Amino acid sequence: SPSAIDSKIVLITGASSGIGEATARRLAADGHHVVLGARRVDRLAALAGEIRAAGGRADHRELDVTSLDSVRAFAEAAHGRLGRIDVLVNNAGVMPLSRVDALRVDEWNQMIDVNLRGTLHGIAAVLPHMRSRGAGHIVNVASTSAHRIDPTAAVYCATKYAVLALSEGLRQESRDIRVTVVSPGFTHSELTDRGGDPEAQAAARAASLELAIPASAVADAIGYAIAQPGDVDVNELIVRPTAQG
Ligand code: NDP
Repeated sequence: SPSAIDSKIVLITGASSGIGEATARRLAADGHHVVLGARRVDRLAALAGEIRAAGGRADHRELDVTSLDSVRAFAEAAHGRLGRIDVLVNNAGVMPLSRVDALRVDEWNQMIDVNLRGTLHGIAAVLPHMRSRGAGHIVNVASTSAHRIDPTAAVYCATKYAVLALSEGLRQESRDIRVTVVSPGFTHSELTDRGGDPEAQAAARAASLELAIPASAVADAIGYAIAQPGDVDVNELIVRPTAQG
């Protein structure tokens, strides 16, 4: 576990399940202080309690990334209490799959609001603090869907391509802040459980059941990027099942 000087304050969005939860466990085990955000606060409270019982440091707070006010309140509470924000992991995401001609417009907007706007809200909330300190690290969870497009995933892919684009733009503008994209392939989580066209979701669930890697594999990649020295920016890690096409 790192010395006090290597121990970072890490904010994690979407920490109530899947990759966010695994990332919280991994980073807390590495000695970092994790601040957990999501809408299901009961889950966050239980996870933070488990981490503290194991000797780690964790706080939690209700967070809806679609609201800039909520994201700002989340970041300000952490900054006020802990004095700085070293890392933001923009992980919250949704994937209700459907063909474009099904016109599930509300779900398109939800994906844009959570996956894209949510990531931008996170950046807006922490960037001023990081710029004034001249240091910081933003980790955006994209997807293999930021690199390939599949039927029923047009809008989801569009949001993830956008996350990749904005991450690269922010990286080019930054000399003191690290920007990392972690792009998972099929990973065990609750991602396919909510919304979308039932047939498309069932197909995604079946593929995931056959192939998926544990969420801890993605958490390990995030932990690796964070652990590098300040002058080393891991720009992107793609982590997918060996058998995924
Ligand atoms: P989960 O569904 O298990 O986790 C998603 C998390 O996002 C939950 O903690 C959920 O919490 C949170 N979330 C959703 N909406 C909001 C919101 N409005 N405000 C705050 N939090 C929100 O899925 P994963 O762990 O798989 O997803 C994590 C990330 O990984 C996503 O960005 C996803 O796109 C990406 N990814 C996942 C892959 C996979 O195969 N699993 C593959 C590629 C990328 P709550 O509902 O409590 O708010």
